[in-house]
Amino acid sequence: MTARKLLIGGKWVDSSSGKTFPTINPATEEKITDIAEATVEDVDRAVKAARAALEGPWGSMSAKDRGKIVWKIGELLMHKVDEVASLETADNGKPIFESRYIDVPVTADCFQYYAGWATKFCGETIPIGPNSFNYTLREPIGVVAAITPWNFPLLLAAWKVAPALAMGNTVILKPASWTPLTALKLGEICQEAGLPDGVMNVITGPGGTIGMALANHPGVDKIAFTGETNTGKSIMKSGADTLKKISLELGGKSPNVVFADADLDAAAKGASIGIFYGKGEVCAAGSRLFVEAKVHEQFMDKLLSRVEKLQPADPMDPKTRMGAIVAKKQMDKVLEYIDIGKKEGAKLVSGGESVKVGGKGYYLKPTVFDQVDNKMRIAQEEIFGPVLATIPFNDVDDAVAKANDTIYGLASAVWTRDIKKAHAFAKKVKAGTVWINTYNQYDAASPFGGYKQSGYGRELGIQALEMYTQTKTVWVDLT
Ligand code: NAP
Repeated sequence: MTARKLLIGGKWVDSSSGKTFPTINPATEEKITDIAEATVEDVDRAVKAARAALEGPWGSMSAKDRGKIVWKIGELLMHKVDEVASLETADNGKPIFESRYIDVPVTADCFQYYAGWATKFCGETIPIGPNSFNYTLREPIGVVAAITPWNFPLLLAAWKVAPALAMGNTVILKPASWTPLTALKLGEICQEAGLPDGVMNVITGPGGTIGMALANHPGVDKIAFTGETNTGKSIMKSGADTLKKISLELGGKSPNVVFADADLDAAAKGASIGIFYGKGEVCAAGSRLFVEAKVHEQFMDKLLSRVEKLQPADPMDPKTRMGAIVAKKQMDKVLEYIDIGKKEGAKLVSGGESVKVGGKGYYLKPTVFDQVDNKMRIAQEEIFGPVLATIPFNDVDDAVAKANDTIYGLASAVWTRDIKKAHAFAKKVKAGTVWINTYNQYDAASPFGGYKQSGYGRELGIQALEMYTQTKTVWVDLT
C-alpha cells in the first residue's frame, strides 16, 4: 500500500515536517504502510481550512442537501464494504467477520440515521405573549475536533463525524496512531460523496502533540473525544482555557450480573460475548462478572466450556471470532494485568498466556479469573483486553453494591427471569446503559455514554444532536 497523507482543505498533503510513522498489522507483525506524521503547524492549517469551509458554501447549503451528502457517505461505505472491512482488520487485528458484518454496516447506518436528522432538528416558536415574537434557531457549534481510539476506529469516528456534519459543523478527525487507515479512507469517501473542501479534514500523528494542539487551539469550538479516562481529563484541562464544548466517552469496568434464576445457558453465552467480543478491547466490555453464589459452580462449567472453544486465529479467516491484540504494547499491558491477578490471589481458570498463529502475531488466549475480590486491581482497573474477573455475590443488594463499587459507569447487564428484579437492578445501577438478558446491543438511534468517570455527554440518538448544535434565541418586538 502506498504511504498515506493528511487530508487538509480538500487536498492530500505530506506533513510539514515530511515525517512519517509506520502502521503495523498486529496479526502478522508486518508494516502495512507509512502514515504522514502531522505537526502542530499542520493542525493550524487544518483548523484554518475547517473555519474557511464553515464560512464557505457549506455554511449556506440547505439542510436537505447536507443530509443528502451525509446519506451518500453511508451508501459509499456499503459499496466499498469489503475493502474498508479488510483495512480495519489489517490495522486493528479484529476478525474480518466483525469488520465486514458489524463495524462497516453499523457505521454506514450511523451516517444514514443522522442524514435524516439534518432536516428535522430545528428551533421552536415560543409563546411569550402578544407583544413579542420569540423563536430559536439551531446552529452548528463550528469547528469540531474528533479524537478517536483504536478499538473501533471507523465506527467511533462515525459516532462523531455523522451528527457533526448533519448539523452543519466542519470536522478535523484525529484517529489513534495504531489504527489510522479507515479514518483516512473515510476522508476519501467524504470527498467522493461531495463534501466541499475543508468540511472534513483528517490528520494523523501522536495524540500527545497534535491531539493536545487541537485541544488547545482557539480556533476549535468543540472536542468530541473517545479514549482513556486520564486522556479525557487532560483534554478537559486544555480545553478549559478557551472554554470549548467537550464531550467525553471514556473507560469502563462494566458489571455483568447473573442471578440464579436466569437462563444460565443464555447468560454464559452473554458473559462470553460480553468480555471476549472485540478481544475485550471494548469500552463497554463486561469485564466484571458477578455470579450468584448458589449457581456459581454450575455457571462456571457452562462458561468455561464455551471459552475453551474460543481460540485466537487469523483475523482474515471468516470463521475466526477471536483476533489479534491491537499492538505488542497493548498485549504486554494485558499480560502484566494477568500477572497482577495471579499475585493478588485470584484463581486463573482459563487462558492467561500469549500465543502465535502461524508463528506470528500478538494473540492472547481468552482469560478467566475466578474467586476475584472486587477490591483487587484486576476488578477495579480497566485492562482493555480479553480478561474476565469473576466475583460471587449473595443477593440483589450485594450485587448492586458491588456493581456500583467502581469509579466507572459506562455499561452494565443483568440476567434473570424475574422482571421485577431486572428493573430494580436497572434503576439502582450507576451506568449509562443497562442490558437485560442480553449484552453489547447498540443502535444509532439509542443514546450511549457514561456515568461517573466514564465521561459525559451522550453519543448516538437525538441526544447527540444537542452536542453538535447551539441554540440562538431571537426576540421581535410586536408593539
Ligand atoms: P487513548 O490513549 O486515550 O487515545 C485516544 C485518542 O486520543 C487517540 O487518538 C490518541 O492519539 C489521542 N491522545 C492521546 N493522548 C492525547 C492527549 N494528551 N491529548 C489529546 N489526544 C490524545 O485511548 P486508546 O488507548 O486509544 O483507547 C482505549 C480507551 O478508549 C479505553 O480506555 C476505552 O475504554 C476507551 N473507549 C471508550 C469508549 C466509550 O464509548 N466510552 C469507546 C471506545 C473506547 P494516539 O493514538 O496518537 O496516542
